[in-house]
Amino acid sequence: ERGTIGDAACGNAPAAADGECAEVSIWALPGSGAYGKQRFERAADMVDFYTELFGPYPYEKLAHVQSSTRFGGMENSSAIFYAMGSWAEERMSEGVIAHETVHQWFGDAVTPAEWSHLWVSEGFATYFAAVYMEARDGEGALRQAMERGRQAVIGSDASNRPVVDERPDLFGLLNSNSYPKGGWILHMLRTLMGDDAFFGAIRAYYADHANGVADTEDVRRAMEEASGRELGWFFEQWAYSPGFPKLEVTATPDGDETVISVEQVQSDDWPTFRGAWLDVDVTWGSGEVERRGLWLTSRSDELRVPTQGEIQTITLDPDVRLLMEQVKNAP
Ligand SMILES: [Zn+2]
Repeated sequence: ERGTIGDAACGNAPAAADGECAEVSIWALPGSGAYGKQRFERAADMVDFYTELFGPYPYEKLAHVQSSTRFGGMENSSAIFYAMGSWAEERMSEGVIAHETVHQWFGDAVTPAEWSHLWVSEGFATYFAAVYMEARDGEGALRQAMERGRQAVIGSDASNRPVVDERPDLFGLLNSNSYPKGGWILHMLRTLMGDDAFFGAIRAYYADHANGVADTEDVRRAMEEASGRELGWFFEQWAYSPGFPKLEVTATPDGDETVISVEQVQSDDWPTFRGAWLDVDVTWGSGEVERRGLWLTSRSDELRVPTQGEIQTITLDPDVRLLMEQVKNAP
């Protein structure tokens, strides 16, 4: 069964035979078409959204095909394959559709120059799938996705290796580094640079590398040009080194102030993380929540707040903007 979802990227896609839009369609086995039309309801809107965000859609059309793949989805250029079973059993997530759609730009039109830089495909697809949900379903959807990704990174042995990883077994690269940690690299760059510079960098990077190859250094250069900042340290820390900060927070009274100490307690095989802003929410006994924060600069940072009674809880990074693990909460 073939179904039309809609036209997309009108005026911003290579001209198809019947016009200047890219047709978005589904191709399903008999009996699976109705579910497909409902599940892929926003598939044309996704193409429009990403065309606006990244630049012109790179192909003449986009077909979503119920097919066989050993993965959840396979991002063939202009004809994405989805696992037969999950479609037939009507348990596909919309996230996989957004993920594979992002790959048309990042992964297909811009291909990683080396397998070791796979995150410039999978990390982009992971992050910008969440950015679509943020735009359409609200900020909470992005925070949820980032929290899921953060838990995956925290729980993974792959975190002992860097994201840019010259390992010999290529299937080993289909891991939490290439996917959620790669997505987190983009999320933290966005926080660091602000939306205008970040999305400007993404558009420039796409324009420069569409129908070509790129690696981590190309991403760095695009981010540096858009932000006017030197970012070698950022990529050294997050892409070329393993790990993430494990943060232990303690609160100690000192006169009429309270000293909130944040220690980085990850092993010495992982770097000391710097240049990242950490939001700190202090909940006082009265129930009042006070938003403070500090820059991570060393293995031990602190901030001082005027004491307002007992502290109930200290929550690090309530808005989910830093890839870190809070290993102990005080008091
Ligand atoms: Zn992917």
